[in-house]
Amino acid sequence: MEAGVGFGSTYPGTPVSDVGDILYEYSKTEQGKHLIFDYAINEKVALEEAIGSSWTGLRSVVIFKHLGMNVAADALHTIMYSGIGNGGGLIIIVGGDPDASSSTNAEDVRLYSKHTHLPILFPSTVEECYKFTKIAYTISEYLKLPVMVYTTPKLSFMTGIITPNRIPNNLPLKRDPPKFERNFERFVNARHLALENKERLMETVKKVEELKFLSNEVDFFPTRKPTNRFDLVIITGGYPYLILKDILSQYGLNDIVPILKLNILYPIIPKSITEFVKEFIPRQILVIEELEPMIENDVKTTLFDANLSVPVKGVWESPKKYSTGVQKGEITHFHIEEILRKYIKIRFPNGLKDYKKELENSKNLLLQREPTFCPGCSHRNVFYALRRVANELKHKNGLDLIFGGDIGCYTLGMSPPWLVTDWLICMGAGIGIANGVAKVLNAYQINNQHVVALIGDSTLFHSGITPLLNALKQNLNITLLVLNNYYVAMTGHQPSLSGIPDSHHSNAGFQGKQLKIEDFVRNLGTPQVHVVGGYDIPQLEKTFMNVFSQNTQGTRIIVVNAECALAVKRIAEQKWSKPRGSQRGEELYIQINESCPMCHECFEEFGCTAIKQTKKDGRVVYYIDESSCMREYCEACLVICPNHCIEKTIINPKGGETY
Ligand code: SF4
Ligand code: SF4
Repeated sequence: MEAGVGFGSTYPGTPVSDVGDILYEYSKTEQGKHLIFDYAINEKVALEEAIGSSWTGLRSVVIFKHLGMNVAADALHTIMYSGIGNGGGLIIIVGGDPDASSSTNAEDVRLYSKHTHLPILFPSTVEECYKFTKIAYTISEYLKLPVMVYTTPKLSFMTGIITPNRIPNNLPLKRDPPKFERNFERFVNARHLALENKERLMETVKKVEELKFLSNEVDFFPTRKPTNRFDLVIITGGYPYLILKDILSQYGLNDIVPILKLNILYPIIPKSITEFVKEFIPRQILVIEELEPMIENDVKTTLFDANLSVPVKGVWESPKKYSTGVQKGEITHFHIEEILRKYIKIRFPNGLKDYKKELENSKNLLLQREPTFCPGCSHRNVFYALRRVANELKHKNGLDLIFGGDIGCYTLGMSPPWLVTDWLICMGAGIGIANGVAKVLNAYQINNQHVVALIGDSTLFHSGITPLLNALKQNLNITLLVLNNYYVAMTGHQPSLSGIPDSHHSNAGFQGKQLKIEDFVRNLGTPQVHVVGGYDIPQLEKTFMNVFSQNTQGTRIIVVNAECALAVKRIAEQKWSKPRGSQRGEELYIQINESCPMCHECFEEFGCTAIKQTKKDGRVVYYIDESSCMREYCEACLVICPNHCIEKTIINPKGGETY
C-alpha cells in the first residue's frame, strides 16, 4: 500500500490467502480506491493480468501459493523475457509449504528461479516482509523485471511489530496516468526476438550483484575477541535464519558462529559469499535451508569458481533429510538445534527444558481424530450418501465406483468414515485422470467399474473446464459431481463465479453476476445434467443411485448446490443476528432422545462433530452439542437415524415477527 500499488490480483492459497484479502479490503476504502483488484480465475490469469497492468505503468502485485506457480509457470517463463513496463514494478508474492500441510506436495518453488531467472527476496521476519516488499518494487523497476518475495507458513502466520510510514493518497494517480506503451521487440516473443530477449534477461539478472537497495548481510557482532580461524560459519536466510538466531541467543552462542544471511536468494551473489569466507576463514560451512539443497549447491559452485577449498555441509546428516539429499518438511527449532549439536563442539548448557519431550507429551493431550468437515457442512451429507450408495451398488450389483478427488474442502471426503477419494493430485486432476481411466475401461469394455470425478465450483473454473471439455468431446463414461458451495471456501470464502449476488465478497470483480453451474454445463452440451440440494440426503442418495447404475454410456454431471453453512451463518449473524426467515423469539434445537439404542450410525458413519459422546448413569450415550450444532442452517442429521431418535424441537414457534 505504501509503495502505491495500483493493481493486485490473486488466486487464494494457504499460506498467503490473507494478503489478497487485505488488498481487496483496502481497495474498497476511500484511501485505496485507486487500487484495481481482482480475484482471478487461476494463478496464470492473475499473473497475466498483473503484467498487463505493469505494461500500462502501474505498480502491480500478484499473490499465490507455491502450487500456483506451476499454473502460472507457462506465462512466467516468457514474461521474464519481456520484463515489466516503465515504472510498473511487478512483485510476485509466493507462499511455500515445505510441510505440505495444506498442499498436495512440498515442491521447492525457489527452484523456478533457476530456469526463469526470477530474482527472489527472502525475508526472515515480519518487519522484513514489509521492508523487502517495498524494496522489491525499486529492484523490479531498476532491473525492469518481476521480483518474487518468498515466504513460508511460519512466517506468513507470524505477527510482529513494524514501523510503517504514511500510506500516500492516490499515489499511482499522482504519477503519469497509466497508458499502455507498445514495445514490440520486448513484448512479442517470436522468431529471433525471443532469444534476443533471453540474452538481455541473462545480462540484466547479473546486475543484481551491483544493487545498492538490498544486499546479503553478515550477522556477527562478537562481544569478546574472536579467534583467528572459525570452526564453523553458517549460511542461511528466511525463516530458518530466525530460528537459528533464536537458538543461538537462547544458548548464549551468538559470539561463536558468524552467519551470512541471504536476503537475495536468487541470483546468488558470489562476492558476498567469497568475502564472508575470506573474512572468517572457516574450517567448514554449514548451510541451513528448507527443502532442496539450492543454497548449498550455489555456495559450493561459488567456492569452486573462486578457488576456495572449504567443506560445505548441508543439513544432510539430520534425520529430516531423504537419502536423495533433499530435506524433508519444514525446518523447526528442534531440527536446527539437533544440527547445531552435531556441528558445534561445545556442550549446550544444562538445565534447559527439553522442549521436544514437552511437545511430544502435549500431543497426547490433544484429541486424536481424522481431519473432518465443519458441523453443518453439506459436503458431509454428500459423502455420507456417496458411501452408502457405493456400498449398496458394490454389494448388490458388483459395481465398483472409482472416485477422482480434487482440491478444496471436499478433499476431506478422503477420510474415514467416507473414504471417497481414490486419487488426489492437483487442481482439476480429479476429472483429468478420470478421462484416462474411463477411456481404458471403455476400450476394454470393463463394465463393473465406473468413474466418478469430484470437483468444487471454484476448482471447476480454475482448472476443471478443459478436462471436462476433453471428456465431453469423447462423451466419456464419467459422472462429474460438482460440489457447489458458492465460495473458494477453504481459503477464507473468497468469491467464486457461482457466488450468490448478495453474499460477502460477491461483487469482487463479478459485478454481481452469478454463473449458474447447471446452466453452464448444459450449454457445453453435457448429455445429462442433474441438480440436487446438498442438505437433502434422501434425494442425494436417489440421484446417485439412478445415475451410477445406468447402463448407458456418456458423460453425466450432478450439480450439488448448497451454500457453505459457515458463510451463511456469518452473513446471517452480521445482518440479522438470526437466520433469515426465522421468527423472533423462536428457538430451534436438534437432540438425540432417550430411546437411542446406540446403533452408532450418526456418530460413526455420518460423523458430524457436533454429535458427541458422554457417560450417563455409567453408560456411554450420544448427544448433540448445542454450541457447535448448526441446526438453523443444517438439520441434515434428522433423516439419518434408522431408529428416529434424532428430533427437532422448536420453542416458542411463530413467536413473533419474521427476520
Ligand atoms: S443439525 Fe445435525 S448434522 Fe447439522 S450440525 Fe447439528 S448435529 Fe450436525
Ligand atoms: S443414529 Fe440414532 S439410534 Fe443410532 S446412535 Fe445415533 S441417535 Fe442413536
